[in-house]
Amino acid sequence: MAYDFDLYVIGAGSGGVRSARFAAGFGAKVAVAESRYLGGTCVNVGCVPKKLLVYGAHFAEDFEQSAGFGWSLGEADFDWARLIANKDREINRLNGIYRNLLVNSGVTLHEGHARLIDPHQVEINGQRYSAKHILIATGGWPQIPDIPGREHAISSNEAFFLKELPKRILVVGGGYIAVEFAGIFHGLGADTKLLYRGELFLRGFDGAVRKHLQEELTKRGLDLQFNADIERIEKQADGSLKVTLKDGRELATDCVFYATGRRPMLDNLGLENTGVKLDKRGFIEVDEQYQSAEPSILAIGDVIGRVQLTPVALAEGMAVARRLFKPEQYRPVDYNMIPTAVFSLPNIGTVGLTEEQAREAGHKVQIFESRFRPMKLTLTECQERTLMKLVVDAGTDKVLGCHMVGPDAGEIVQGLAIALKAGATKRDFDETIGVHPTAAEEFVTMRTPVAG
Ligand code: FAD
Ligand code: NDP
Repeated sequence: MAYDFDLYVIGAGSGGVRSARFAAGFGAKVAVAESRYLGGTCVNVGCVPKKLLVYGAHFAEDFEQSAGFGWSLGEADFDWARLIANKDREINRLNGIYRNLLVNSGVTLHEGHARLIDPHQVEINGQRYSAKHILIATGGWPQIPDIPGREHAISSNEAFFLKELPKRILVVGGGYIAVEFAGIFHGLGADTKLLYRGELFLRGFDGAVRKHLQEELTKRGLDLQFNADIERIEKQADGSLKVTLKDGRELATDCVFYATGRRPMLDNLGLENTGVKLDKRGFIEVDEQYQSAEPSILAIGDVIGRVQLTPVALAEGMAVARRLFKPEQYRPVDYNMIPTAVFSLPNIGTVGLTEEQAREAGHKVQIFESRFRPMKLTLTECQERTLMKLVVDAGTDKVLGCHMVGPDAGEIVQGLAIALKAGATKRDFDETIGVHPTAAEEFVTMRTPVAG
């Protein structure tokens, strides 16, 4: 049977664009459908605008610290509307770049909501198109628990477009988004509280990292409320919000921001017209090659709920394009040693196993740790400390994990990830000459284990 396209991609986000462009480059006839914004979550309401806001928030401490280096500044004044307008302009520019990337690589772009009609057909803007393969790359969507007053709460989607910086804000959650945005709002001057339902935020990260970040954020004056969960939110006559916690406490605020995870975006996708199955958590179930239970339909990225990170969606998109249209170049995605950063202030950077995971997996470990005041702060009043930690297998000497809390942790950990991926031992680290004077050199100068 002749199809309109070899590959029809639903969703022009990180994974969809990568897959479509590469498939077209390999000679396939490709279309991509996008209902909202080119570039998807990462470009529009994720990584990129978030990082711009983090940069914005960082200036507060740069101004403060500059005094120690002899600078005198006038009264600093922050204009949220200007930051958001400049951010929007940059995102618009990136949307245009994504459009050009797709069009110039020969991909047909359909702008609208795509719906599956059967295992080989998609309907969009009243038109039907057939394809040999269909790739679902529809991403995720913020999930807000069903509590009374949830309509008064916002998610990350709205946070990027607030008309004004709230004077007081409650950020709910203890994952990446909650920690990053609490830092953004606090840095920009809002009275910020972070509410997390458990004992300590960032579950799954190394214990020392979680504790260290808790201490650093507390030092900065961020109000961290653990073992705290919201029961209801009520709007007051003056427009403010009354928040009642499950323990009966009442808090007054101007904005409640939920960052409590993301669900797969499957709204009106027509999955019922196909044999695609969902896993227990509601994400699309796929095999190692991203094929769903319906042989002609594949899925990648956040919608499969494996690792919700842009570089992972990119790698999966590439793997699908290669497997379908350039099988001789196909390599499966390796999910080991995925480095990641939390762009909190200060940043977390991490790759490999945490101490807890290593012990649980049966490794006899040696732990190396360094805690120090960054050189840049020695002329300032700032008492921030950096943490660096190595988890080493005592038997093989292999470095199992590197963890850091401190300035540029994400930048530093990217390089270390290559070493870990290549199987570096602690001896390799020891024999590597440092770059002096940097914070990063601490990773190659830790000599005495703090725990075994
Ligand atoms: P998406 O990028 O979400 O793209 C899906 C696209 O499909 C969207 O454009 C959507 O409009 C479209 N779509 C959905 N349904 C349809 C339909 N039926 N028809 C047509 N189009 C449709 N990751 C990092 O690695 N680093 C970070 O710093 C980082 N920061 C983040 C910050 C925030 C606030 C958030 C929310 C996420 C962040 N992420 C970060 C995660 C990252 O954005 C995602 O992992 C990544 O975007 C997933 O890519 P994807 O291709 O699976 O989906
Ligand atoms: P996460 O899964 O990281 O964190 C969700 C948080 O919300 C957890 O602390 C969880 O608590 C808590 N939570 C879940 N349900 C409830 C509930 N009903 N009531 C109260 N608290 C709840 O999700 P995020 O929304 O922060 O981010 C989504 C994903 O996007 C991340 O996992 C990450 O993959 C990606 N991302 C990556 C970034 C980066 O690379 N820098 C930045 C931002 C996002 P508990 O731990 O107790 O379950």
